[in-house]
Amino acid sequence: MNVPTQIDAVKEGEERPFYQPHQKIYPQSVHGTYRRIRWIVLVVTLGIYYLTPFIRWDRGPGAPDQAVLIDLPARRFYFFFIEIWPQEIYYVTGLLIIAALVLFLMNAVAGRVWCGYLCPQTVWTDLFLAIERWTEGDRRERIHNDAGKLTPQLAARKALKHFLWLMTAWWTGGAWVLYFADAPTLVYDLATFQAPLVAYAWIGILTFTTYALAGHMREQVCLYMCPWPRIQAALTDEYAFNVTYRLDRGEPRMSVKKAATALAKGEPAGDCVDCYQCVAVCPTGVDIRDGPNLGCIQCGLCIDACDTVMAKLHRPTRLIAYDTDVNIRNRQEGLPVSSRIVRPRTLLYSVLIVAVGAVMLWTLATRAPTSVNVIHDRNPEYVLLSDGGVRNAYTLRILNKHADSRRLAVSIEGLAGADLEVIGAGEEAGQPVVDVGPDQTREMRAVVSTADHVSGSVPIAFALRDLSDDSLVRGADNFRGPDGEGGSQ
Ligand code: SF4
Ligand code: SF4
Repeated sequence: MNVPTQIDAVKEGEERPFYQPHQKIYPQSVHGTYRRIRWIVLVVTLGIYYLTPFIRWDRGPGAPDQAVLIDLPARRFYFFFIEIWPQEIYYVTGLLIIAALVLFLMNAVAGRVWCGYLCPQTVWTDLFLAIERWTEGDRRERIHNDAGKLTPQLAARKALKHFLWLMTAWWTGGAWVLYFADAPTLVYDLATFQAPLVAYAWIGILTFTTYALAGHMREQVCLYMCPWPRIQAALTDEYAFNVTYRLDRGEPRMSVKKAATALAKGEPAGDCVDCYQCVAVCPTGVDIRDGPNLGCIQCGLCIDACDTVMAKLHRPTRLIAYDTDVNIRNRQEGLPVSSRIVRPRTLLYSVLIVAVGAVMLWTLATRAPTSVNVIHDRNPEYVLLSDGGVRNAYTLRILNKHADSRRLAVSIEGLAGADLEVIGAGEEAGQPVVDVGPDQTREMRAVVSTADHVSGSVPIAFALRDLSDDSLVRGADNFRGPDGEGGSQ
């Protein structure tokens, strides 16, 4: 049988070309344990992606009730009970660090298991392949159809495939924009052509990229575009589980008939019957029997294919299996095999994940619902007054993360006898008082004057006392005098 795979391009004794012509891959359907796992992961991950924008979360009056929302106009990110402000972007950094560490841990335990089961490119390609199989038939039929003439029936089936691909891609792009606005409202606005132009533009862009990447480029993305296989290869070790062909059991490969003859003569015969089923089901066209390959995404489908063949021949399964390099070596040397999931590398990643997660949780649990950022005027830094005093001006950015308004009394600390004026503020008991609305930021100009001579820089703090619960927050800065440069009279 002519099996169109990447290996066809390299004949015995020939040099592998630097650039290889693209060969279309026709993955065959397969049944088995890993195929079932991949279906489950596909349904769960796509379900999460498509349905999450419709989950509601009550945050009280005036606040959005969408559980996961990136509110760009209000500059907020909502994730269930967590609300991230722009000043707290470090939480997103922390999440990215945890995501990277989880990827490293997965890699240390089971190689490219992310690529094989969870990567969006893998999941959507798998979905698009299922649509292709449903509309155009399985591998043999598709190879046969592509080699023959385009009949009206075949054209109709291909048109249906592209229509379903485009619908899936459109729904994927549509789901993405729902994360940026109230989902039910945006769905209504999109359907009635009242949504902002940018929403339609993003849906168009994502429809095109999904259709191109998952429908047409497929394994090319993994082979040529994605950097992770190169990085992953440098991060893995000999104890990581990878999909492996058991050379010691499979070789010398030969047909059932030839194996029977060889065995009758007392010659060795391996379990591999060279049926190419493992290659036929591979979504990246790899022949795993050639050894470790950058194109292998560790999806395990070749294990299912080979297990089916072995079961039919009444031979032990797992001729192809998840195994470690150490075990392969041990088998060849006749040593016992074992697995070492707990080792310094996996322990280190686990400890780092727990540590970063704990720090993030702690900062989330203890973060102040009110805060103030102080920005000192840069030009001029100070003003000399006619009576010999000094004046400094500041911008106070006051954040109120409470669900209700707050009244905050402002005072100055660290500069005895200083006079504080907050422009536009009210007054209570001789102190400036600032009202900040619920879930809002308010910027105020503050002027600090002192009749005394101040030289150089004196550390000060603006203290904001919440009049409803007496809690106190401070914003530190400096009061600058004529010893430095940049003043004016
Ligand atoms: S060689 Fe096997 S595990 Fe690797 S990508 Fe192909 S089918 Fe998946
Ligand atoms: S499916 Fe199994 S028996 Fe068939 S070629 Fe692959 S490794 Fe050999």
